[in-house]
Amino acid sequence: MPDFQRPRPADRRPAPPLPPRRPERPANGPGRWGNGAMNDHVEQQQGGAAQQGGAAQQGGAAQQGAVPAAGTYGALATAARTTVATAAVAALPAAVRDSTNADLKARVEAAVTAAAGAAFDGCLAVAMRGAPAPAAGQAQEATQAQVAAARTAYDAGPGVAVGKFGQYLDEVRGQASATDAHVESALTRYTTRTARSVRAYTGIQQSENVELLNFHVSGVRDQANAAQNVEDIVAGEKIQVSAYGNAPGGSVEPDDTVLDAIISLQRTYSFRITELAGGSHSRNSAHYTADAFDVDQLDGAGVTSRNRSVAGFMQACRDLGASLVLGPGSAGHDTHVHAEW
Ligand SMILES: [Zn+2]
Repeated sequence: MPDFQRPRPADRRPAPPLPPRRPERPANGPGRWGNGAMNDHVEQQQGGAAQQGGAAQQGGAAQQGAVPAAGTYGALATAARTTVATAAVAALPAAVRDSTNADLKARVEAAVTAAAGAAFDGCLAVAMRGAPAPAAGQAQEATQAQVAAARTAYDAGPGVAVGKFGQYLDEVRGQASATDAHVESALTRYTTRTARSVRAYTGIQQSENVELLNFHVSGVRDQANAAQNVEDIVAGEKIQVSAYGNAPGGSVEPDDTVLDAIISLQRTYSFRITELAGGSHSRNSAHYTADAFDVDQLDGAGVTSRNRSVAGFMQACRDLGASLVLGPGSAGHDTHVHAEW
């Protein structure tokens, strides 16, 4: 079997321990990548990060529901939001800043301002989770510490995507000088990527009900693990596909339908995602186009035929439009759910 390195502990929020796990069956032999193995996640880790997986409590979603609406956090938050938006506009490339097309320039600046504001509000909503509700009739005011935490999260997370207008413009113009058409194209990419960044940050990466594996269960380490995929989405980038076994390598555009399904599911279930675009799966797997995800822990226990949340979770995936959902009872899926769109 592969000589597993002990996974790094998740470096995000601490998660309560899972109930004791039954001994897992041993992993398959090292030759399985080339022998048509359907998935690389049928084997299970024992201990380590596995103990942290899927351990979010049912109360998590309720806590998230208690977060006040964005944009209503008082004067400190308003000032910080203005600061990040002003900085983002100031960082626009010269091709936009010096543009004589006033309409286009104004639309870009409005998009950047809106993206910065939404990203900051998302970070603040996360930073204020669990804050006591204000007295009746009182507005919820963010404290200095909460605003500072939101600013730190912004700079490391969604704010990265907000600052990438220049990069997107460079990508669409190639070697050519930037034209209005290039700026328009960059604006479309920018709007899509920044909106996706905020959703992925608040609804997946920082969700109290989603755990993201930061390694492949195969033991292979690359930049295509689920945690890194989501980090890249938050940073406004494409996501990496693994390059081992059947996996073709390269990078793909994230799929908003899949991301929104995950965001929807975590309102009802807590789960651990083992793979998005990464890992080695069957040939032509939907994972390689970012159209699938795998879950091996659900509502505090491993996915098995005895996990009473599995049937409902699989049906919820179908209700969200999944074209194929496989789980216990299907070959190769006794210990995980695969859902694809
Ligand atoms: Zn899968």
